[in-house]
Amino acid sequence: MASSLPPRSSYLKKENAGTARREMGLKVAPRRNVLSAINNGEANGGAPSAPADGGGAEAAPVVEFGGREDVERLLAEKMKGKSKNDFKGRNEQMSDYIKKLRACIRWYMELEDGYLAEQEKLRSTLDAENSRHTELEAQLSNAIEELKAANLDLTRRCESLEETLNREKSEKLIAVESYEKEKQERESAERSRDVLTVELERATHDAKRFSEQLKMVQDTNKRLQEYNTSLQQYNSNLQADASKSGETISKLQKEKSAMMETMAALRECHNSMSSQLESSRASQQEAIRVKEELRKEVECRRAESKQVRDDRDHAVAQLNSLNIELATCKEQFGRASKECECMSTKVSALEETCNTQQEQIQTLQKQLAVATDKLKLADVTAIEAMTGYEEQKEKIKYLEDRLAHAESQIVEGDELRKKLHNTILELKGNIRVFCRVRPLLRFDGDSNGPEGASISFPTSVESAGRAIDLMNQGQKLSFSYDKVFDHNASQEDVFVEISQLVQSALDGYKVCIFAYGQTGSGKTYTMMGKSGIDQKGIIPRSLEQIFKTSQSLESQGWKYSMQASMLEIYNESIRDLLAPGRPNSFDMTTSKQYTIKHDSHGNTTVSDLTIIDVFSIADVTNLLEKASHSRSVGKTQMNEQSSRSHFVFTLKISGSNENTGQHVQGVLNLIDLAGSERLAKSGSTGDRLKETQSINKSLSALSDVIFAIGKGDDHVPFRNSKLTYLLQVTLPWRGLENSHVCQYFT
Ligand code: ADP
Ligand code: MG
Repeated sequence: MASSLPPRSSYLKKENAGTARREMGLKVAPRRNVLSAINNGEANGGAPSAPADGGGAEAAPVVEFGGREDVERLLAEKMKGKSKNDFKGRNEQMSDYIKKLRACIRWYMELEDGYLAEQEKLRSTLDAENSRHTELEAQLSNAIEELKAANLDLTRRCESLEETLNREKSEKLIAVESYEKEKQERESAERSRDVLTVELERATHDAKRFSEQLKMVQDTNKRLQEYNTSLQQYNSNLQADASKSGETISKLQKEKSAMMETMAALRECHNSMSSQLESSRASQQEAIRVKEELRKEVECRRAESKQVRDDRDHAVAQLNSLNIELATCKEQFGRASKECECMSTKVSALEETCNTQQEQIQTLQKQLAVATDKLKLADVTAIEAMTGYEEQKEKIKYLEDRLAHAESQIVEGDELRKKLHNTILELKGNIRVFCRVRPLLRFDGDSNGPEGASISFPTSVESAGRAIDLMNQGQKLSFSYDKVFDHNASQEDVFVEISQLVQSALDGYKVCIFAYGQTGSGKTYTMMGKSGIDQKGIIPRSLEQIFKTSQSLESQGWKYSMQASMLEIYNESIRDLLAPGRPNSFDMTTSKQYTIKHDSHGNTTVSDLTIIDVFSIADVTNLLEKASHSRSVGKTQMNEQSSRSHFVFTLKISGSNENTGQHVQGVLNLIDLAGSERLAKSGSTGDRLKETQSINKSLSALSDVIFAIGKGDDHVPFRNSKLTYLLQVTLPWRGLENSHVCQYFT
């Protein structure tokens, strides 16, 4: 767009204005109207310039934007004039175009606001969802941990229970076995008991029989004894009868003798008597026979009795043996009963144990069932939690997709923004000039210049904030700029205007910001500032913005790397302000050449110059401190003020976007130029004269370059000074459309 700017020819005519102001003690630069005119498209010979869009905003057609195509169509629109010099036509077209662009920007800003709001909403939703998700995850992991712990505990308990169960089972088995054994034993004991009972019964029966027999035998015995007694009585009777018979015999014998005597006497009677005797003899023999018979009968009875006695003895012996057998049987029976009782108690004890074990098993089984239920419940909870988790995951994925979509829209929007932003900057003018008036300082004295000199800021609609009036000896001189900052303007106010250019550097453009003015006019204050938050100058503020913005762009996939270098140009020679160690002087014998080279990719390198990678604002602050220290050392060595040299701060910004594959390479040059004293006014001689000449030469070379660029000349005299040669590729000259320059005057 730089090429579409009309050439300006009034530049050189304005040279003397600076001198006038210097004499008046005003801190206004001499060439500002020239450079401003370049951008405003007007030859501003002292009259305030009208705003580019004029006052016809109400009459402007309402331009509606339906989408990206409209914007691209607008961007593709070409400016056509009736002829090459039809500036009016072109100007009108340009005004229309600017209006459309404004409408487009408004539309874009609304769109961007919408995107940002949606992004913000989505971010907050995502954050909330993420935090909910994290919370849920934490809860879930806690629940899982608890469940695991419970599960572990339950498994352990289950295992121990199973172990106990197994032990109990084995014990039960052993008990059952022993019970079986005992049962068998008991059965066998019962069987033997039955056998014994049968035997006992038999024995009892036998005993009964024997006792009956015994009774019978005893009865028989008794009877036999009675019989025996009767027999003995009979025997004794018989014996008494026998003794009676013997007595009778002796009586008889006596009677016989008496008889014999009597026989003799009686012999006579003998015959009679003999017959008597004979009969007695016969009765005797009869008695003897009876006796013999009786004796035989006794003997027979005796034998019988003996037989009975033997029988009785045998029966008694049998009875005794039966009694003994009975006793043994009884004993056995008692033992068997005892054993049986013992077995029964054992069996009941075992049954009891069995019952308790059964109860234990039942309780264990119940516990196991409860544990299994719990485990099932835990499984269900875990499954529920997992489903919840999956749902959350899906939700997050959906939100992430939406976010990605929104981000891609933002990236597209960002691209569009960049284009529009830089189109606006180009329309505003690739070269812009601002003016800052510093407040009066103590050493300025009571007045701000020669008698009658004063400055004022026009407040008319078209020139408010863009013009400055200078009254000198009753003569009014008006100057207009792209922006005028009065003495009340803060560092922040100044930076707000510059910040758009800083954004361009991040977008991959080459930006130069110069501070131009007399010594003491506030260049260093504006560029570097002073310590204190509100006193910071453009350089630290720009760096802060760059680091902040580059960090916020990280979310869109942008990664930036930055390299800083700082140099000073004094008397056309370069000094590296970041050179490690010493020396910091302009010793020409040093081996370092600091040769400036430009490559075909538009990159500038200075040989031997220290380039430092910077990652944070703190890094750059350190470097700035080091540079200012170096500069002040140089100053004392030369016994000169720092404002006698040009200070160039260069920040190379390379950015790449992983998501879109884009690469950008921007450069931000912040330059604190040397004081612009007039040679005649400075009254210098010798070295100081050479120095002042050198400064003026380089400043006028810079003016020439900027003027030639503004005019769209084919030849731009970059090589006329070290400074212009160094900045060659960063100045907006031909084809290098991605450059902006803000020439900043104080
Ligand atoms: P230069 O670098 O142009 O020679 P300085 O930046 O050193 O000038 O400024 C000279 C003095 O004026 C310094 O003491 C500085 O603090 C002061 N100064 C300059 N501009 C301002 C301002 N806008 N507000 C307050 N003090 C200022
Ligand atoms: Mg200075």
